[in-house]
Amino acid sequence: MSDAQIDVLVVGAGACGLAAAITAHDRGVSTAIIEKRHVPGGNSSLSTGSVPAANSRLQREAGIVDSPDALVADLMNIAKETDDLALVRRLAEVSGGVVEWLIDDVGARMQLITAYKHIGHSVSRLHAPVSRVGQDLVDDLLGAVERRGIPLAVGNAAIDLLVENGAVKGAIVESSDGRFEMRAEKTILAVNGFAANNALIKRYCPEIAGADYFGAPGSTGEAVIWGEKLGADFANMAAYQGYAAVAYPHGSLLSWTTMEKGGILIDDSGSRFGDESLGYSGFAKHVLNHGRTTYAVFDQRIFDIATQEQEFRELDELGGIKKGKDAREFAAKLDVSPDAFEGELARYNQAAAGEAKDRFGRSNFGLAPLTGMLCGCQVKPGLFHTQGGLRVDADARVLRPDGKPIPNLFAGGGAAAGISGRAGALGYASGNGLLSAIALGRLAALAGADEIKGARK
Ligand SMILES: Cc1cc2nc3c(=O)[nH]c(=O)nc-3n(C[C@H](O)[C@H](O)[C@H](O)COP(=O)(O)OP(=O)(O)OC[C@H]3O[C@@H](n4cnc5c(N)ncnc54)[C@H](O)[C@@H]3O)c2cc1C
Repeated sequence: MSDAQIDVLVVGAGACGLAAAITAHDRGVSTAIIEKRHVPGGNSSLSTGSVPAANSRLQREAGIVDSPDALVADLMNIAKETDDLALVRRLAEVSGGVVEWLIDDVGARMQLITAYKHIGHSVSRLHAPVSRVGQDLVDDLLGAVERRGIPLAVGNAAIDLLVENGAVKGAIVESSDGRFEMRAEKTILAVNGFAANNALIKRYCPEIAGADYFGAPGSTGEAVIWGEKLGADFANMAAYQGYAAVAYPHGSLLSWTTMEKGGILIDDSGSRFGDESLGYSGFAKHVLNHGRTTYAVFDQRIFDIATQEQEFRELDELGGIKKGKDAREFAAKLDVSPDAFEGELARYNQAAAGEAKDRFGRSNFGLAPLTGMLCGCQVKPGLFHTQGGLRVDADARVLRPDGKPIPNLFAGGGAAAGISGRAGALGYASGNGLLSAIALGRLAALAGADEIKGARK
């Protein structure tokens, strides 16, 4: 690409950016996407592609009664506090239409997940690709971009915004051919968050600093860096999604079903150190703070259930799951004291059987007591993505602390303030990331296109 002028410049080709560009094009304005990596998709490709929507057509067809109010109540029940309740409400209100747009206009192969309810949702409302693989959703979005002839330039990084008299006029772009200006009437930041930027994580999410990052490498925080320079406002900056059990050394995610069904996490002394039912995100900081080698433990019945998940099967096929016919043999395989582990397992099993109170307050034990063949692996805590960012209005315009928009600048997805609460990892409900990505990307493009068309009348 070389110096150019378009209506809507989209920076970043994940779910947010792709949704924004498709929407802008369909609203009748010119648009182009720049992506700094050589492959589009970002974190969206790594996700399960699950998007929550309230009162979607698919829910109604399945006889599920849902409403934006119910979605807001569920999200706030988990998040407790947020810097921006209006954003939670706005995304809940548009969620049903967003999923229907994905199916009808984008051609995304989404179905309503009814087999199980995800953490935080009181009814079945997650819509996902049949495969539960985010790359399939990204591929469908890319297909829609291609069919419309929207330019998508990979290997083109925005290195700064073009700003004139306080208004954003596009971006300075760097590619292997050098630097050039991409001038635009409106610019949509779809660059995700800052989880791959250690300095920003230490500053805004210190409780998870030190955990390995397991998202896409592009999330280096440009929205924060540029937003700070422009005097933008931020919200929910300490919120993030963590994962308590990344299998080590394999690097794949140990299915949390293993814990929900009654499994436990122990350290290298054979002891548990917390209530695993806090969830995969919320428990991550406990594993990090505990600071010792950690193992997941479950039994063969739970293993059999988890093998329904492809990633778990692959981990097992790679030899990632160790097994022992009883507590002593299993402990020896982990290099943990058999005496200590046997005692700890007996204490946990007593609590699970209702014979004693769990000393960490766990009250949901799934299939436990754990019996027979024991299974497990070493795990590490991980950071998936940040959930705070630029404060935006109901149409994804980036705001200053006085509530006024920065002219021509929009943000969505991980670049914008999220809906997972004010701080920490407990506020993340399944699908929050993609809902903000796709809904805000779409809202930004609709508003940007309408502003351009309004100014031309
Ligand atoms: C393992 C994992 C599982 C997850 N599962 C789910 C799930 O099931 N449901 C859910 O809702 N959320 C999930 N999430 C979170 C979700 O993936 C993200 O919140 C969401 O994908 C963010 O979308 P986005 O478009 O904002 O960012 P991304 O999809 O990351 O896209 C941002 C793009 O911008 C590019 N970019 C960055 N900076 C620049 C620049 N300066 N110039 C040009 N391009 C740039 C990046 O390279 C990237 O391609 C998961 C995350 C991980 C890591």
